[in-house]
Amino acid sequence: MSQPRILILGGGFGGTFTALELSGSGEITLVSEEDHFLFTPMLYEYLSGEVEEWHIAPRYSELLDASVKFVQGRITDIDVTAQTVSVDPNGQPLAYDILVLALGGITNYVGVEGAEEFSLPFRKIAHADRLRQRMVDALDRIPPDMPPQDVRRELTFAVVGAGASGCELSTKMADLLRDAFKRRALKGEPRVLVIEMGDRVVPGMGEPIREFVDDALRQSHVEVHTETRVVRVTSEGLTFDHQGTEEHLKTAGVVWTGGVKMSPLIEKVQVEKNNRGLLLVKPTLQSLSHENVFALGDVAVYPDASPTLAGTAQLAFQQASLAAKNVKAFVSGNELQTKHFEELGEAISLGTERAAVLTAGKAFGGALARQARFALYTSRLPTWHHRLRVGASWFFEGTEPRPLLPLGFERK
Ligand SMILES: Cc1cc2nc3c(=O)[nH]c(=O)nc-3n(C[C@H](O)[C@H](O)[C@H](O)COP(=O)(O)OP(=O)(O)OC[C@H]3O[C@@H](n4cnc5c(N)ncnc54)[C@H](O)[C@@H]3O)c2cc1C
Repeated sequence: MSQPRILILGGGFGGTFTALELSGSGEITLVSEEDHFLFTPMLYEYLSGEVEEWHIAPRYSELLDASVKFVQGRITDIDVTAQTVSVDPNGQPLAYDILVLALGGITNYVGVEGAEEFSLPFRKIAHADRLRQRMVDALDRIPPDMPPQDVRRELTFAVVGAGASGCELSTKMADLLRDAFKRRALKGEPRVLVIEMGDRVVPGMGEPIREFVDDALRQSHVEVHTETRVVRVTSEGLTFDHQGTEEHLKTAGVVWTGGVKMSPLIEKVQVEKNNRGLLLVKPTLQSLSHENVFALGDVAVYPDASPTLAGTAQLAFQQASLAAKNVKAFVSGNELQTKHFEELGEAISLGTERAAVLTAGKAFGGALARQARFALYTSRLPTWHHRLRVGASWFFEGTEPRPLLPLGFERK
């Protein structure tokens, strides 16, 4: 192929890093819904104001050079026979010779009544903005003389799902709300619950890191409800079932971190998938049924990766490098490569003052782990230029949380 048209769908971890590595290697187009990349592992710090939007959500116009064309829009159809992709609003379908699928997942409400309508998802900048606003609004409604038991009822937030995301989010919310209580001299305490169907928190993580998570949940005063299933969400709160007994809880907000499912667009694509709807790829990341279609990240099942890596940014990030190499090899007719992907370690944020890091089988926590996490994530941001700017900003300007101020004093 002399000048193949390479179309990359999805500008998250898989798509953005593939585009960056491919730049200059053909006619490359990246299509995505938003105008920015999002470093999702730090969305919690964005909620708390420890980091700013530009740190973790740089625009593609800043990241990509002129050799990669960016099309912002919603992909509505992928036709692997005609080799075209429809994007709304974009008139003519985009034609390709090589397709890279990196469309990620969406929140999975697992069919719980009212969950999609009434709970807040937490996957995008706009979601974090909405949740922060919800916390400020709830605080602003509390008069200073309200009795503690009423305050607690009015300021109850529930996070559904106690995976890493639910624990990171609930500790962050609890710390922010308690800080706002002190600043506003409110009586009593806010109430933050994390509700989990399984019998323990962070089920996918090992014992060493779980100890730090359990400890942080206690220190942040998060109520943990395990073996508890949410059965309904309404505009007023939620109903949960624990050992056959249903209880209704009035809340100021329910945040859903209870699961991820395949992008609905992938359901319609005519390529080979497994029974969970994930795209089946060869060790080269090529689709089993279409050799000019590559897939990576949350939409694909990769045969040679540690099982705990499925659905993680660290897998999509590592795969992007292989995808870029193999797209180039495919274009030039060279042999495609394979790779075994390993865990790069785990780092989770726990409230506004702590984190836990697992590296080389050893876990450590506390304020030092929080610093280590910032340092580690500086190195994982896209492009040297962006990394340097962000690293300098964190080093010189600090990473203090931004208090939940009354309406009118809040700034972005
Ligand atoms: C809050 C949060 C925290 C996380 N923390 C961690 C962590 O600490 N460590 C870790 O390893 N993983 C973490 N993850 C998981 C990680 O973000 C994903 O595994 C990773 O982003 C997958 O990369 P991807 O390229 O497959 O998809 P994504 O990064 O999700 O990218 C998909 C892209 O496709 C775009 N897109 C989707 N549908 C369409 C459409 N129809 N039209 C146009 N564009 C579309 C999306 O806007 C997005 O830009 C976290 C996820 C979330 C939500």
